Amino acid sequence: MSAGWLEPHGKSIFHWVWNFQQYPILAIVFARELGDTSAVRRLRQMIEADVVRLMREHLESQFPKVCPTCHFRYEDLRQYIFITERIEPSVCYDAEIEDWTPRQPIGTATYSNCRCGTTLALSSHGMPVLRLWALYHWARGEKKRRGITMPELLSYLRDQIRQQVLAEPPKGESKDIP
Ligand SMILES: [Zn+2]
Repeated sequence: MSAGWLEPHGKSIFHWVWNFQQYPILAIVFARELGDTSAVRRLRQMIEADVVRLMREHLESQFPKVCPTCHFRYEDLRQYIFITERIEPSVCYDAEIEDWTPRQPIGTATYSNCRCGTTLALSSHGMPVLRLWALYHWARGEKKRRGITMPELLSYLRDQIRQQVLAEPPKGESKDIP
């Protein structure tokens, strides 16, 4: 079966159901029922891309960020990635206590060392709780499906965001200008 009907920006019925905020799981169920394994794979990729986008948007909303010790001001995520030293693991504190739908989330945090040595954190703090639950729901299923731990999944997502950010030209530099 052609997967043309699954074009994310096309006009098929799946356009209406694939959206991460809505019912992607339903779309996967449909595709699986239809025996379309490539569609299932594409849906999983689309959902993962959405997860990465939502996480990146939230991380970027935390800039500019100032180190409380040396007062260095990180203007954006790109500069932060370049200058700080990555520390593993990232921790999902809600997952640690198996609370996937926390009413008052403790959250998820990722750590880096500032150039002065101070440990800085970017976290899920401030993310709308329903969105956080949706991400947790996805993560819970994915770590099981991939047979990895939550810190390993977070590390993978961190890699994805990092690669995306570093692959883009720095702000203020346009490719259109020769
Ligand atoms: Zn510092």
